[in-house]
Amino acid sequence: MGPLEVKTYPDPCLRIRTTAVEEFNRDIENTLKSMTDVMYANQGIGLAATQAGLGLSIFVIDTGEGLINFVNPEILERSKKKSGMEEGCLSLPGVTVRVSRPGEVKVRARDGKGEFFIKKFTGLAARAIQHEFDHLQGKLIIDYLDPVRYFFAARKLSGIKRARAAKACEVVCDVGKTNNRRA
Ligand SMILES: [Zn+2]
Repeated sequence: MGPLEVKTYPDPCLRIRTTAVEEFNRDIENTLKSMTDVMYANQGIGLAATQAGLGLSIFVIDTGEGLINFVNPEILERSKKKSGMEEGCLSLPGVTVRVSRPGEVKVRARDGKGEFFIKKFTGLAARAIQHEFDHLQGKLIIDYLDPVRYFFAARKLSGIKRARAAKACEVVCDVGKTNNRRA
């Protein structure tokens, strides 16, 4: 695999719903390594496969406590208590959005070798995990904005072609999903 690059809005890859990894082999470990390299190279605290143009259920995070790989992650529990924080995204340069999220999550996932783990996360790690988990469903932080703020954020990201880009994106995303299923 060649070097990965970060896809930015309105790239249709960001709207793909990912599919689970079924075979654990060298390819998956290489993909995780490449994603990790891209995350660190861009000073990110997390990176999801869709951001690298891959339709797999994979993300990596490092919020200062070391690298963690998540393959086929599921959020088993979310705390009732939420907190809000400004979030940025490598795929949405120059845009931050205040997102309210549960402060604690319990996650089940597999590592690069296919071993299952279940772990509770709090603080920044819990936030990063939920942000990356959203990416795997094709969801971005701008989707938490009200329609007016979404309009301005999308315009900022796409320039004057905003309206056209948003429409084109929906169409292309359907194509992307179909391709994704085939891949
Ligand atoms: Zn992001």
